[in-house]
Amino acid sequence: MKNDLEEKRQPGKPRILIVGGVAGGASCAARARRLSEKAEIIMFERGFYVSFANCGLPYYVGGIITEEKNLLIATPELFRKRFNIEVRVLSEVRAVDREKREIEVRNSETSEVYRESYDALVLAPGAAPIRPPLPGIDLSGIFSLRTILDSRQIREWIAGRKAKRAVVVGGGFIGLETAENLARLGISVTIIEMLPQVMPPIDPEMAVLIQEHLVANGVSLRLGDGVAGFEQDSKGNTISVITKSGGRYVCDMVLLAIGVRPEVTLAKEAHLEIGLLGGIRVNDQMRTSDERIWAVGDAVEVRDFASGEWSLFPLAGPANRQGRIAADVILGREARFRGVQGTMVCKVFNIIVAATGMSEKTLNRRKLSGQEERYEKIYLHPGHHANYYPGAKPITMKLIFSTEDGRVLGAQAVGEEGVEKRIDVIALAIQRGATVFDLEEAELCYAPQFGAAKDPINIAGMIAANALRGDAPVAHWAYARPPESYVLDVREPHEFNLGHVEGANNIPLHTLRDRMGELPRDREILVYCGVGQRSYYASRALRLNGFSARNISGGMMTYNAERQAESR
Ligand code: FAD
Repeated sequence: MKNDLEEKRQPGKPRILIVGGVAGGASCAARARRLSEKAEIIMFERGFYVSFANCGLPYYVGGIITEEKNLLIATPELFRKRFNIEVRVLSEVRAVDREKREIEVRNSETSEVYRESYDALVLAPGAAPIRPPLPGIDLSGIFSLRTILDSRQIREWIAGRKAKRAVVVGGGFIGLETAENLARLGISVTIIEMLPQVMPPIDPEMAVLIQEHLVANGVSLRLGDGVAGFEQDSKGNTISVITKSGGRYVCDMVLLAIGVRPEVTLAKEAHLEIGLLGGIRVNDQMRTSDERIWAVGDAVEVRDFASGEWSLFPLAGPANRQGRIAADVILGREARFRGVQGTMVCKVFNIIVAATGMSEKTLNRRKLSGQEERYEKIYLHPGHHANYYPGAKPITMKLIFSTEDGRVLGAQAVGEEGVEKRIDVIALAIQRGATVFDLEEAELCYAPQFGAAKDPINIAGMIAANALRGDAPVAHWAYARPPESYVLDVREPHEFNLGHVEGANNIPLHTLRDRMGELPRDREILVYCGVGQRSYYASRALRLNGFSARNISGGMMTYNAERQAESR
């Protein structure tokens, strides 16, 4: 394969300069070296560390990761010795001179300012935590979590102040992970989130499960309320977080985790194209509007794989892959970034939440803007492994698929075990354009400790495929409104008596065949049970006996989650 930089333009030593030395920058540097022994590779990092594990920071705050050094994946010395890559820390790149192909660097230790020329420049400057200009935002004791220094300062503050109460602003994954870790330290935590749910990428009825779990673990939740400002008491001991609704939460420390903004100062000043979402615009080869400059990671806008829309997706996986792709392209390969699809996972206390592809919220938003995709959704609550083997834990799954061709559009799952494994499988299915019929047929690992002969993935595929084939069409609670529809509960009477949908009729599954005469033939029958399995058997029996019947997906479990989400 031809290598432009090495062979044509720069015989000898092409110079690749990289701005930013963590996920995107470091992966680009290391990949570039693996592709070229001749290239001169210099990585500039304005902080003290390169290649550190941002993702481990909440766990360092909480003491699960005990030593700061464990956060360092690679050191400048390792880069030099193993890869012959020069790393300059405490070196901020302050300007890019595109005409001369030079950058200006300032060494913050010596204050020296100098220039370096490049053949290829890679911008991997990451993103910065959002700190809105609210009254009191600069009070001490209000932290963000982005760097090792941030986490050290938080630890020191907690120890020095013997902090007992914390407010976490923002219920995204950094907020939730840090909330858990603060709680682990014996700190009483309140999460304040502007949206009516935590974990914004997933749908509200799925987020309810996380919310319940947070509350069960002693975390207070204030949803649907934004922060208006912060005040300190006269002695400087406590901070009050004031919310827009007039709430006042007194605490010893605040963690701001309301999202990040792409770091684009350099790119803007160099007049590189910036997208509407505020990230650096790149093509699928991570090239910016300047053909000699590439950009990767949290700083860039990328295409959403499914929708084709521009999106910001600040996670480590894409940053690493993009760094690698930039190196490939710089050194003459035809690599292309496939786009992001929203695959994420987060653990909150004992619950794991994971998602991939489009949520229902996204699909509804797209519909409003005239880009309707016809979809159906199903809910299921299988065990994470065979129920006969001790320790099976339920997973609540939601699968969204196209009603045109069965393509899998998105999936979300919440549970204690085996959640990420299922979402990983579906993530690849989505990337390969697979359908629910493929999930139905997927051959997956099975031994009783790990899965089931019909894995939750297969079951999700079967339910969806049965619905598409018309064998077992699904219904949803939003449309199950007695008396317009005849709602049939096929659980046992003792379950029915513990709680049921108003207006529902109870005929337990095992008596159904004998009591079909009681059922209407002039109306559709919507059947439910606890999780959707017995009602599936019932709806099949009814349909085979000439009734019009549909199974309400997810049963009472989904009903309860939806009611709770609606009440927010
Ligand atoms: P960064 O890793 O932020 O690196 C950018 C570097 O560039 C910084 O070190 C910065 O100092 C440097 N820099 C910026 N400007 C300049 C300049 N002008 N000159 C020199 N250097 C400069 N992602 C996941 O996928 N899973 C997780 O579980 C997860 N957990 C996270 C937890 C936390 C607390 C945080 C903060 C992030 C987490 N992420 C997680 C996100 C993930 O860490 C980022 O998506 C990823 O690090 C982005 O890589 P990047 O190279 O684009 O930016």
